[in-house]
Amino acid sequence: MEAIRYFSDKMVCLEAVASAKWPRGPVCPQCASKRLSFLKTRLMWKCLDCKKQFSVKVGTIFEDSAIPLDKWLTGMWLLANCKNGISSYELGKALRVTQRTAWFMLHRIRYAIHTGSINKMTGTVEADETFVGGRARFMHADRRSEKIRGRGPIGKAVVFGLLERETGKVRTSVVKTRRKYELQAHIRANVASGANVFTDALKFYDGLESDYAHKVIDHAEAYVDGNVHTNRMENFWSLLKRSIKGTYVSVEPFHLFRYLDEQAFRYNERKATDAERFQKVLESIAGKRLTYALVCG
Ligand SMILES: [Zn+2]
Repeated sequence: MEAIRYFSDKMVCLEAVASAKWPRGPVCPQCASKRLSFLKTRLMWKCLDCKKQFSVKVGTIFEDSAIPLDKWLTGMWLLANCKNGISSYELGKALRVTQRTAWFMLHRIRYAIHTGSINKMTGTVEADETFVGGRARFMHADRRSEKIRGRGPIGKAVVFGLLERETGKVRTSVVKTRRKYELQAHIRANVASGANVFTDALKFYDGLESDYAHKVIDHAEAYVDGNVHTNRMENFWSLLKRSIKGTYVSVEPFHLFRYLDEQAFRYNERKATDAERFQKVLESIAGKRLTYALVCG
Protein backbone atom coordinates (compact mmCIF):
# COMPACT_ATOMS: atom_id res chain seq x y z
CA MET A 1 0.00 0.00 0.00
CA GLU A 2 2.84 2.36 0.87
CA ALA A 3 4.56 1.61 -2.43
CA ILE A 4 1.34 2.27 -4.33
CA ARG A 5 0.90 5.59 -2.54
CA TYR A 6 4.55 6.56 -3.00
CA PHE A 7 4.64 5.85 -6.73
CA SER A 8 1.31 7.58 -7.38
CA ASP A 9 3.36 10.79 -7.76
CA LYS A 10 4.31 10.95 -11.44
CA MET A 11 7.41 13.10 -10.80
CA VAL A 12 8.71 10.61 -8.24
CA CYS A 13 8.42 7.81 -10.82
CA LEU A 14 10.02 9.88 -13.54
CA GLU A 15 12.97 10.90 -11.36
CA ALA A 16 13.52 7.33 -10.14
CA VAL A 17 13.73 5.97 -13.70
CA ALA A 18 15.68 8.97 -15.05
CA SER A 19 18.41 8.68 -12.42
CA ALA A 20 18.78 4.93 -13.04
CA LYS A 21 18.81 5.42 -16.81
CA TRP A 22 20.99 8.55 -16.98
CA PRO A 23 23.24 8.72 -13.89
CA ARG A 24 24.89 11.85 -15.35
CA GLY A 25 21.65 13.56 -16.37
CA PRO A 26 19.29 13.06 -19.34
CA VAL A 27 20.67 12.76 -22.89
CA CYS A 28 18.78 13.09 -26.19
CA PRO A 29 18.37 9.56 -27.64
CA GLN A 30 18.39 11.02 -31.16
CA CYS A 31 21.52 13.19 -31.22
CA ALA A 32 23.10 12.63 -27.74
CA SER A 33 22.79 16.32 -26.90
CA LYS A 34 22.46 17.35 -23.27
CA ARG A 35 20.91 20.73 -24.15
CA LEU A 36 17.33 19.89 -23.19
CA SER A 37 14.28 21.60 -21.83
CA PHE A 38 11.80 19.75 -19.64
CA LEU A 39 8.14 20.06 -20.63
CA LYS A 40 6.36 19.92 -17.27
CA THR A 41 2.86 19.48 -18.66
CA ARG A 42 3.84 16.53 -20.87
CA LEU A 43 6.51 15.08 -18.53
CA MET A 44 8.84 14.89 -21.52
CA TRP A 45 12.09 16.46 -22.62
CA LYS A 46 12.62 18.50 -25.75
CA CYS A 47 16.05 18.49 -27.34
CA LEU A 48 17.19 22.05 -28.10
CA ASP A 49 19.50 20.80 -30.88
CA CYS A 50 17.43 18.32 -32.92
CA LYS A 51 14.01 19.47 -31.57
CA LYS A 52 12.90 15.88 -30.86
CA GLN A 53 10.75 15.15 -27.83
CA PHE A 54 11.29 12.03 -25.74
CA SER A 55 10.05 10.46 -22.53
CA VAL A 56 11.97 8.65 -19.81
CA LYS A 57 10.58 5.38 -21.22
CA VAL A 58 12.57 5.63 -24.47
CA GLY A 59 14.95 2.72 -24.96
CA THR A 60 13.82 0.90 -21.81
CA ILE A 61 11.74 -2.20 -21.13
CA PHE A 62 8.82 0.16 -20.47
CA GLU A 63 8.94 1.75 -23.92
CA ASP A 64 6.57 -0.45 -25.91
CA SER A 65 3.91 -0.83 -23.22
CA ALA A 66 0.94 1.37 -22.41
CA ILE A 67 1.28 0.52 -18.71
CA PRO A 68 2.11 3.74 -16.82
CA LEU A 69 5.32 4.07 -14.83
CA ASP A 70 3.59 4.16 -11.43
CA LYS A 71 2.31 0.62 -12.03
CA TRP A 72 5.69 -0.56 -13.35
CA LEU A 73 7.61 0.80 -10.37
CA THR A 74 5.10 -0.53 -7.85
CA GLY A 75 5.39 -3.91 -9.55
CA MET A 76 9.19 -3.73 -9.34
CA TRP A 77 8.97 -2.73 -5.71
CA LEU A 78 6.72 -5.69 -4.90
CA LEU A 79 8.82 -8.17 -6.84
CA ALA A 80 11.98 -6.94 -5.12
CA ASN A 81 10.59 -6.89 -1.61
CA CYS A 82 7.99 -9.63 -1.21
CA LYS A 83 9.97 -12.37 0.49
CA ASN A 84 7.94 -15.18 -1.01
CA GLY A 85 7.59 -13.57 -4.41
CA ILE A 86 4.36 -12.32 -5.91
CA SER A 87 1.93 -14.06 -8.25
CA SER A 88 0.41 -12.42 -11.29
CA TYR A 89 -2.99 -12.78 -9.56
CA GLU A 90 -1.81 -10.81 -6.49
CA LEU A 91 -0.04 -8.17 -8.58
CA GLY A 92 -3.08 -7.76 -10.83
CA LYS A 93 -5.28 -7.15 -7.81
CA ALA A 94 -2.84 -4.67 -6.25
CA LEU A 95 -2.36 -2.65 -9.44
CA ARG A 96 -5.93 -3.02 -10.77
CA VAL A 97 -4.76 -4.55 -14.04
CA THR A 98 -5.72 -7.90 -15.55
CA GLN A 99 -3.81 -11.00 -14.49
CA ARG A 100 -2.54 -11.25 -18.05
CA THR A 101 -1.06 -7.73 -17.87
CA ALA A 102 0.44 -8.49 -14.46
CA TRP A 103 2.03 -11.66 -15.83
CA PHE A 104 3.58 -9.68 -18.68
CA MET A 105 4.95 -7.11 -16.23
CA LEU A 106 6.49 -9.72 -13.92
CA HIS A 107 8.07 -11.41 -16.91
CA ARG A 108 9.65 -8.16 -18.10
CA ILE A 109 10.84 -7.12 -14.62
CA ARG A 110 12.47 -10.52 -13.99
CA TYR A 111 14.18 -10.17 -17.30
CA ALA A 112 15.49 -6.72 -16.39
CA ILE A 113 16.87 -8.04 -13.11
CA HIS A 114 18.34 -11.03 -14.88
CA THR A 115 20.02 -8.98 -17.59
CA GLY A 116 21.00 -6.29 -15.07
CA SER A 117 19.76 -3.50 -17.32
CA ILE A 118 16.53 -1.77 -18.25
CA ASN A 119 18.08 -0.60 -21.53
CA LYS A 120 17.72 -2.53 -24.74
CA MET A 121 20.70 -3.41 -26.95
CA THR A 122 21.35 -1.16 -29.94
CA GLY A 123 23.57 -0.95 -33.04
CA THR A 124 24.57 -4.38 -34.30
CA VAL A 125 23.56 -7.44 -32.28
CA GLU A 126 24.59 -11.06 -32.83
CA ALA A 127 21.91 -13.61 -31.89
CA ASP A 128 22.65 -17.32 -31.54
CA GLU A 129 21.56 -20.35 -29.57
CA THR A 130 23.38 -23.44 -28.36
CA PHE A 131 22.87 -26.65 -26.39
CA VAL A 132 24.43 -27.15 -22.97
CA GLY A 133 24.62 -30.24 -20.78
CA GLY A 134 23.12 -33.69 -21.35
CA ARG A 135 26.15 -35.68 -20.30
CA ALA A 136 25.00 -39.12 -21.35
CA ARG A 137 28.15 -40.89 -20.18
CA PHE A 138 27.32 -40.25 -16.52
CA MET A 139 23.90 -41.85 -16.81
CA HIS A 140 22.75 -45.33 -16.01
CA ALA A 141 22.94 -47.57 -19.10
CA ASP A 142 19.13 -47.88 -19.46
CA ARG A 143 18.57 -44.17 -19.28
CA ARG A 144 21.51 -43.57 -21.57
CA SER A 145 20.18 -45.72 -24.39
CA GLU A 146 16.77 -44.14 -23.88
CA LYS A 147 18.24 -40.67 -24.27
CA ILE A 148 20.59 -41.42 -27.11
CA ARG A 149 17.93 -43.14 -29.22
CA GLY A 150 15.89 -39.97 -29.42
CA ARG A 151 16.40 -37.49 -32.22
CA GLY A 152 18.34 -34.32 -31.56
CA PRO A 153 19.87 -33.04 -28.38
CA ILE A 154 17.55 -34.63 -25.81
CA GLY A 155 18.47 -33.91 -22.21
CA LYS A 156 20.28 -30.72 -23.16
CA ALA A 157 19.22 -27.23 -22.28
CA VAL A 158 18.77 -24.62 -25.01
CA VAL A 159 20.63 -21.43 -24.24
CA PHE A 160 19.95 -18.29 -26.21
CA GLY A 161 22.46 -15.46 -26.40
CA LEU A 162 22.71 -11.89 -27.67
CA LEU A 163 25.94 -9.94 -28.11
CA GLU A 164 25.99 -6.19 -28.62
CA ARG A 165 28.91 -5.48 -30.96
CA GLU A 166 29.66 -1.95 -29.81
CA THR A 167 30.04 -2.79 -26.13
CA GLY A 168 30.97 -6.46 -26.60
CA LYS A 169 28.48 -7.36 -23.88
CA VAL A 170 26.40 -10.54 -23.86
CA ARG A 171 23.04 -11.47 -22.39
CA THR A 172 22.07 -15.09 -22.11
CA SER A 173 19.00 -17.00 -21.05
CA VAL A 174 17.83 -20.58 -20.85
CA VAL A 175 14.89 -21.06 -23.19
CA LYS A 176 12.33 -23.87 -23.20
CA THR A 177 12.27 -24.44 -26.92
CA ARG A 178 13.85 -23.30 -30.15
CA ARG A 179 10.42 -22.28 -31.38
CA LYS A 180 10.22 -19.14 -33.42
CA TYR A 181 7.94 -17.21 -31.06
CA GLU A 182 10.09 -17.88 -28.02
CA LEU A 183 13.41 -16.90 -29.62
CA GLN A 184 11.89 -13.85 -31.26
CA ALA A 185 10.29 -12.78 -27.96
CA HIS A 186 13.79 -12.73 -26.43
CA ILE A 187 15.09 -10.60 -29.28
CA ARG A 188 12.19 -8.15 -29.06
CA ALA A 189 12.47 -7.91 -25.27
CA ASN A 190 16.19 -7.13 -25.40
CA VAL A 191 17.00 -5.39 -28.67
CA ALA A 192 15.80 -1.91 -29.64
CA SER A 193 13.85 -1.86 -32.90
CA GLY A 194 15.87 -0.60 -35.84
CA ALA A 195 19.03 -2.43 -34.72
CA ASN A 196 20.95 -4.78 -37.03
CA VAL A 197 20.34 -8.36 -35.92
CA PHE A 198 22.68 -11.04 -37.30
CA THR A 199 21.59 -14.66 -37.00
CA ASP A 200 22.31 -17.96 -38.67
CA ALA A 201 20.01 -19.40 -41.30
CA LEU A 202 17.60 -21.05 -38.88
CA LYS A 203 14.05 -20.60 -40.11
CA PHE A 204 13.03 -19.65 -36.54
CA TYR A 205 14.26 -16.15 -37.18
CA ASP A 206 12.05 -15.49 -40.22
CA GLY A 207 9.87 -12.43 -39.67
CA LEU A 208 12.33 -10.30 -37.72
CA GLU A 209 12.52 -8.03 -40.76
CA SER A 210 9.44 -6.10 -39.61
CA ASP A 211 11.39 -4.57 -36.71
CA TYR A 212 15.06 -5.09 -37.46
CA ALA A 213 17.60 -4.92 -40.23
CA HIS A 214 17.96 -8.69 -40.07
CA LYS A 215 20.90 -10.36 -41.82
CA VAL A 216 21.36 -14.11 -42.10
CA ILE A 217 24.53 -16.15 -42.46
CA ASP A 218 24.10 -19.51 -44.12
CA HIS A 219 26.53 -21.81 -42.35
CA ALA A 220 26.26 -24.32 -45.17
CA GLU A 221 27.81 -21.78 -47.53
CA ALA A 222 30.19 -19.68 -45.49
CA TYR A 223 30.81 -18.84 -41.88
CA VAL A 224 31.84 -15.28 -42.44
CA ASP A 225 30.24 -12.96 -44.95
CA GLY A 226 32.23 -9.78 -44.34
CA ASN A 227 30.81 -8.04 -41.33
CA VAL A 228 27.82 -10.38 -41.09
CA HIS A 229 28.73 -13.13 -38.65
CA THR A 230 27.94 -14.45 -35.19
CA ASN A 231 31.54 -15.38 -34.41
CA ARG A 232 31.77 -13.38 -31.22
CA MET A 233 28.65 -15.02 -29.79
CA GLU A 234 30.03 -18.41 -30.81
CA ASN A 235 33.32 -17.53 -29.13
CA PHE A 236 31.38 -16.92 -25.93
CA TRP A 237 29.71 -20.34 -26.26
CA SER A 238 33.07 -22.08 -26.56
CA LEU A 239 34.40 -20.25 -23.49
CA LEU A 240 31.25 -21.23 -21.63
CA LYS A 241 31.48 -24.88 -22.59
CA ARG A 242 35.17 -25.11 -21.81
CA SER A 243 34.53 -23.64 -18.39
CA ILE A 244 31.60 -25.98 -17.66
CA LYS A 245 33.70 -28.98 -18.64
CA GLY A 246 36.77 -27.83 -16.74
CA THR A 247 35.32 -26.38 -13.57
CA TYR A 248 32.00 -28.06 -13.04
CA VAL A 249 31.38 -31.78 -13.39
CA SER A 250 27.76 -31.09 -14.28
CA VAL A 251 25.46 -28.14 -14.06
CA GLU A 252 21.92 -29.03 -13.06
CA PRO A 253 19.45 -27.55 -15.57
CA PHE A 254 17.69 -25.77 -12.70
CA HIS A 255 20.86 -23.85 -11.79
CA LEU A 256 22.02 -23.24 -15.33
CA PHE A 257 20.65 -19.71 -15.58
CA ARG A 258 22.55 -18.60 -12.47
CA TYR A 259 25.68 -20.07 -13.90
CA LEU A 260 25.12 -18.29 -17.21
CA ASP A 261 24.66 -14.97 -15.41
CA GLU A 262 27.92 -15.47 -13.59
CA GLN A 263 29.71 -16.41 -16.80
CA ALA A 264 28.22 -13.47 -18.73
CA PHE A 265 29.21 -11.07 -15.96
CA ARG A 266 32.82 -12.22 -16.07
CA TYR A 267 32.82 -12.02 -19.85
CA ASN A 268 31.27 -8.55 -19.90
CA GLU A 269 33.75 -7.27 -17.33
CA ARG A 270 36.68 -9.11 -18.87
CA LYS A 271 38.72 -5.94 -19.41
CA ALA A 272 38.52 -4.98 -15.73
CA THR A 273 41.01 -6.07 -13.07
CA ASP A 274 40.07 -8.55 -10.33
CA ALA A 275 39.67 -5.67 -7.88
CA GLU A 276 37.53 -3.70 -10.34
CA ARG A 277 35.31 -6.72 -11.00
CA PHE A 278 34.88 -7.25 -7.29
CA GLN A 279 33.90 -3.58 -6.92
CA LYS A 280 31.43 -3.95 -9.77
CA VAL A 281 29.61 -6.84 -8.09
CA LEU A 282 29.51 -4.88 -4.86
CA GLU A 283 28.14 -1.80 -6.61
CA SER A 284 25.49 -3.64 -8.59
CA ILE A 285 24.13 -5.18 -5.40
CA ALA A 286 24.52 -2.00 -3.36
CA GLY A 287 23.30 0.13 -6.24
CA LYS A 288 20.05 -1.77 -6.53
CA ARG A 289 19.44 -1.63 -2.80
CA LEU A 290 20.35 2.02 -2.75
CA THR A 291 17.90 2.77 -5.55
CA TYR A 292 15.09 1.04 -3.69
CA ALA A 293 16.09 2.74 -0.44
CA LEU A 294 16.15 6.11 -2.20
CA VAL A 295 12.74 5.76 -3.79
CA CYS A 296 11.45 4.61 -0.41
CA GLY A 297 12.50 7.94 1.06
ZN1 LIG B 1 18.56 15.77 -30.01
